[in-house]
This record gives sequence, C-alpha cells and structure tokens, in this order.
Amino acid sequence: MNILIKPAQIKKQKPKDEKELGFGSIFTDHMFTMTYNAEFGWENPIIEQFHNISISPAANVFHYGQEVFEGMKAYRGKDNSIYLFRPNMNAKRANNSLERLCMPKINEKDFIEAVKKFVEVEKDWVPRSEGTTLYIRPFIIGIDEKLAVNSSKHYLFIIIASPSGSYYTNGITPVSIWVEDEYVRAVRGGVGFTKTSGNYAASLLGQEKAHKNGCEQTLWLDGVERKYIEEVGSMNIFFKINGKVITPKINGSILPGVTRDSIITLCKDFGYDVEERKISIDELITATKEKTLEECFGTGTACVVSPVGKLVNKNESFIINNNQIGKLSKKLYNTLVDIQYGRIDDKFNWRVKVC
Ligand SMILES: *Cc1c(COP(=O)(O)O)cnc(C)c1O
Repeated sequence: MNILIKPAQIKKQKPKDEKELGFGSIFTDHMFTMTYNAEFGWENPIIEQFHNISISPAANVFHYGQEVFEGMKAYRGKDNSIYLFRPNMNAKRANNSLERLCMPKINEKDFIEAVKKFVEVEKDWVPRSEGTTLYIRPFIIGIDEKLAVNSSKHYLFIIIASPSGSYYTNGITPVSIWVEDEYVRAVRGGVGFTKTSGNYAASLLGQEKAHKNGCEQTLWLDGVERKYIEEVGSMNIFFKINGKVITPKINGSILPGVTRDSIITLCKDFGYDVEERKISIDELITATKEKTLEECFGTGTACVVSPVGKLVNKNESFIINNNQIGKLSKKLYNTLVDIQYGRIDDKFNWRVKVC
C-alpha cells in the first residue's frame, strides 16, 4: 500500500497539562482516509490535515447504519518508543464486523500499516505521563446517496486519534453495576459481536437506567431468557469464584474483546483454571450470598481492568470484595499495562513497535 502523506499546514496547540486530557474530545493534526468503490476496491490511501468531511444527507450510514469501528491505543514507552498492542486482533475483528454488515473487507496488512503510519506521523501527540495514551479510532462508513435499503457501493475508511488521559485519575476505584432485565444490548444472530454504531445507540437507555438506579454501569443479560450474563457496559466481564476464573463464552451476541483474550491468556499463565461458559445471574447472586464470589471485573481497551465493587439486582444490592480491587484484578492490570508500555518482557509477542 502506498500511502500519500500531505503534512498538515495548520498545527494545533497540544494540551499543556496532560491531567486535563480526559477522553476523546481533542483530536490530532491529521487523519487517514481511504476510499472504496465496487470497481477498483480500496484505493487512494492518504494522511492529511484533520478536516470535516462532506457526504450526502442521503448517505447510507445516516439511515441504515452501515458503520464499523475499532478502538485501540498507542503507548509511549520509557525510551520514547511508541507501541501498539495486538493490532492484528483489531484488523481481524474489523473484518468480521465488515462481513456481517455487508461491507467490503480491508486487507489486514493494509489495516495495520495504515494505523502504524498514521501513529508514526502523529507520534508527538502520544502523551507522556503515566497512564496516558493516544486513543485510535479507525472506522468505515457506507456513503452511497440512496434511500433504498441496500448495501452501499462506496465506502470511506477513516482513522482519527485523540490523546487521552489516564482512565484512573484517582487510583483504581471499583464501579457499581445495575443488572438490566428489561432492555438488552444484542441478540444472537444479530450484530452483538461487531463493533457497529447501532449497538451503542441501543445501549444508551439501559445505561441511563443504571444511572437512575445509582449505578455506573449496566450488566447486560442475554436477549432470549434474560438470564445469562453477557457483558458490562462496553466491557467484557470476569468473575473469580472459589479460586476459578469464569467469563461468559463468546456466543455471537458478546463482543470478543482483545483485552478479554489477553486476560484469559494471562490468567492461564498465572496458573488459574479459566472457564469460558454460560453463567446465569442466579449463579452469580448465589455466589455473592455464599461469599464464594471473590472478585469481579470488566475488561476493555479503555480501562484495561475495571473492578466491580457493587451489584444491584432489582431492589437487592451486594458488595463485592469489600468494594476493593482484588489481588488478581490488580495483578492482571499491572501485568497488562507493563506489557503495553514496554516495561516488561513481552513473552506473548503482543507489542508492536511503531517507531
Ligand atoms: C470494544 C468493546 C469491548 C472490549 O473490547 P476490547 O477489544 O478489549 O477493547 C467489550 N464490549 C463491547 C460492547 C465493546 O464495544
């Protein structure tokens, strides 16, 4: 792939205080774009000044939601090397999402090369303080100007990036979760396993309900019986019950997280039994009551590991592990972050050096 690089003419001021970065509201100087048409496939990759795009108000993405996105990060190591974490997993997952939404796949090598080149151009935007990252958002949209329900013949693949503050500005504090038994996030056979915009629109009302009930995140149950645990917010979920690590099995409605996969590998490496299986809300409540639930945490690129300290089910609430971060959660967090920032040996070959 031959990416044309047109350096931005206008350079933005970088935020002076990295503590004020927050998440996803400041964007770097450049963007990557590649276009697709049915005749020539993906072509014209370019990195140029970040700018507003102009597409028809009749574009498919606005009406029928042909959209796929990814979320990944670039990390600055001690020696100022810049790393990505398992970008091949994001490239592969993007293609699984694209296939489900009748959108054209992107060669995995090209996807990774585009992200690497883009991050290299923006390397000065990768923040320096502890826990900060450059959050990278690749996405693909259908842009045909047509109101008939059809898959588009023209697409844009765009990558933007946003310097992001540490997820945990006041240390790792456990979150509270609300068991949602009315709304569901996804159903099997649908698009739950894809990163597509509609899934997130569908989750907002459940998230609001969690907030109204004094919780920070929603615990999603399966769409058929509303009995089996699927995910928490937009994270995968793990439990440590009686010394065993348990996480819901990938079933078509759960998003297969890169962090999830990495956490399973690390748990096994630490010597834990890991069970990927169905786990019902009843089993979880029983484990809570019998005090065999030792730890509970969510996983995702943004938070890495997010301990859960409180569970609210209807009008009962349960405190997990004294509302403290568990020993395993802490060890997993530290190990994964140390690998990502290049502070320890990368025995699984997960790190990819950009420059
Ligand atoms: C992105 C995402 C995750 C986490 O995936 P990672 O690859 O670990 O970041 C989990 N659940 C949902 C719904 C997601 O969108």
